Amino acid sequence: MGVYTQSIKKGLEPDENLNFLEWADKYLYLPRESTKEYGKYRSGRTPMVKEVLLELSPSSPTEEVVVQKPTQLAGTTIGIIFLLASADMSPGPSLCVQPTGTLAESFSKKKITPTLNTTIKNSGRLKGKIKDRKIKDSGNTILEKIFPGGSWRFAGSNSGAVYRSESVRYMMLDDFDGIERSIGADGDPGELSDRRTGTFKNRKIYKNSTPLLKDMSNIEDAYKLSSQGRFEVPCPHCKELQYLEFGGKETEFGIKFERNDDSEVIKAQYQCIHCKKMIDEYQKEWMLPRGVYVHKYPKRKVRGFKYNALYTPVGWVNDWIKIVEIFLAAKNSAEKLQTFANTIMAETFEQRGSRPAWKTLSSRAEPYKITTVPSGGLLVTSGTDVHDNRLDIVVRAWGRGEENWLVYWTRIFGDVTKQEVWDQHDNILAMEFKHESGVGLRIASAAVDSGDNTHIVYNYCRRRRPVVMAIYGSQKKNQPILGRPAKKDVDYMGSTIKNGVQLWPVGTDSAKSIIYQRFNLIEPGLGYYHFPVGIDDEYYQQITAEKLVTTYNKKGFPVKAWQNVRGNRQNHALDAEVYCYAAAIRAGIATMQWDALELNYAAKGRGQEPVVAMRKQRKVRSRGIR
Ligand SMILES: [Zn+2]
Repeated sequence: MGVYTQSIKKGLEPDENLNFLEWADKYLYLPRESTKEYGKYRSGRTPMVKEVLLELSPSSPTEEVVVQKPTQLAGTTIGIIFLLASADMSPGPSLCVQPTGTLAESFSKKKITPTLNTTIKNSGRLKGKIKDRKIKDSGNTILEKIFPGGSWRFAGSNSGAVYRSESVRYMMLDDFDGIERSIGADGDPGELSDRRTGTFKNRKIYKNSTPLLKDMSNIEDAYKLSSQGRFEVPCPHCKELQYLEFGGKETEFGIKFERNDDSEVIKAQYQCIHCKKMIDEYQKEWMLPRGVYVHKYPKRKVRGFKYNALYTPVGWVNDWIKIVEIFLAAKNSAEKLQTFANTIMAETFEQRGSRPAWKTLSSRAEPYKITTVPSGGLLVTSGTDVHDNRLDIVVRAWGRGEENWLVYWTRIFGDVTKQEVWDQHDNILAMEFKHESGVGLRIASAAVDSGDNTHIVYNYCRRRRPVVMAIYGSQKKNQPILGRPAKKDVDYMGSTIKNGVQLWPVGTDSAKSIIYQRFNLIEPGLGYYHFPVGIDDEYYQQITAEKLVTTYNKKGFPVKAWQNVRGNRQNHALDAEVYCYAAAIRAGIATMQWDALELNYAAKGRGQEPVVAMRKQRKVRSRGIR
C-alpha cells in the first residue's frame, strides 16, 4: 500500500467501505434504558430491517424508503442507525421530523443520545465527532447537533425549522401518520421531503409509521406509491413463502388458537396458506432469518416495506398468544379494534357509519322547490359560516322531533370587511320562504360565526339582535350544542351593557356527531334531514367532508376528533349546518308548540286569524327579522 493511499485512508474514517447494515452489526450498541435487546446490535434478530438498511445506504441509488410497520418493532432502530451510520461514514445535513416538538426533543434525548453514548463507549465509533452539549460553544443542543461534514436537526412537524429553505441530504419523517396533513404547501407532507432534499443528488428520505386511518394515512399513501414490498417467510413444512396475516375463523390460513374452560388462550399456531399445516411459534427462529421482501412493483424507485407484529422475534412481548389475547379483548370495541389493526397488524382502520357518501345524500333529494317549505317544517333558522372572503349560508325549516328540511343554501363571495357583503346577508335574512299552507315564513333565528372576524360580526349582530346571534365554535369536547352566552359589550366603567352583544358557544363536535348520525337515517321521521332537488353537488361534498377519527395522544390514549377527510376539502356547508342547528335550538325547537303553530299557519293560509293563542316562549321570534 502506497503512502498516498494511506494518507487518504487516514483522512477518511472509517477505513472500510461498509453499508449501514454492516456498520450497525459491527459497531452499534443499544443502551439498556431504551430497548428490550440492549448491548451489541444484531440485525439477525429482526431480519426485516436488513433490506431497509441496505436501501438507506449510500451504495444504493434509492432515494426514498417507506416503512409501514407495527409499533415497537424495529422502525425506530432503523432511524437511529440511519442517523448514526451516516454521520460516521458519509455525513451530511440531516433533518429528523417528529409529529411535535416535544416528541422531537424526546427522540433526541431518549433515543439518539443514549445510543450514541453506548456506541462510543463500546465500539469507539463517532468518538469526538459529536460533542457533549454541556461543553460551551460545542454547537450542540438537544435539537441541533453539528459534527464534521454534517448535522442533525430534530424538529416537530409544526415548527419553523421544518420550513427553512436550506437543503438537507438526509431526511427522516418519523411517525409519519402523526404528522399533520396540512404540513406541506398544498396539504401533502410528502411534498415537504421533496422540497427540503431537492438539491442533493445523493439524498435519502426515510418515512416510517404505524398507520392510522384509511383514507387519511400518510404512510399508506406513500406505501401505495412505492414498490410495495411485504416481508414473506417460508413455511417450515412446505418451504413456500407467505406474508403472515391474522386471518379469521373462516380462513384456511393465519392464526389459529385454543382456549381453556376459563376462556384463556392456551395455544396459538399459524396455518400455512399453501400446505395448510400448523406452524408453531418457536419455528419463527428458523423462518425469520429466511424471510425476504417480495415487491409487488419491483421496478418502482421508491422502496416500500411492510411487516406486522406476527413477525416479532421469539422471546419478545408480542408473541402469538399475546396477539390473540389483544384481538379477543378488542373484538367488541371499534376503538380497540382500531388499535389492534394499527399497532399490531400495521394496517389502516376504517371507521364505519360515521360518514355517509355524498352521493347517497344527494340521491335522496326530494321533489320540493328550493325556498319552499314542506308542511312539516314550521320554523325557519339559518347558520352562516364566516371567512375573510366568503359567507356560506344554510337555511332549514324545523318541525316535530327536529325533523328538518333544507330550504336554501348559498354563498356570498367578497371581502367581509365590506358593507356590501353584509347587505347581501341582510337580504337573505329578509327572504320569505313559502310554507305549504301558503304562509310566508321568515328566518326566526340566525347564527353567525364570529370566530375569525370577531369585531365585524359583533357589530353586525349587535344591531340585529335578538334574531341574529354571534356564535363561536368551541374546541372543547362534549359541549352542549348551544352553551350559555357571554356578554361581550362593556361600558367605559367595565360594566356589561344591558342590550350589548352576546357571544354564544357552539359545541361543534357534539353537533357534528348528531348531524352525521341523522344523515345516516334511512326513514324520514325524528331528526331526519331532508334535501330539495336542485342543490349543487358541491353542497353534498362539503357536508360530508369530515369524519370522526380516532388518533392517539402522546400517552397512547385514543382521542376522537372531527377531521377533514382530505386536507383540502372544503367543509363550510357543514359548519353552516352546525350553526343552523344551534340557531334552531335557540329558537326553542325542543319545547315548541308545533300543533298550535301548524293550526295557525293553516288558518292564516285561509286568510283567517290565528286560532290558537301561542304560549309566550322565551326564545321564539315568530316576527322574523325587523
Ligand atoms: Zn406450508
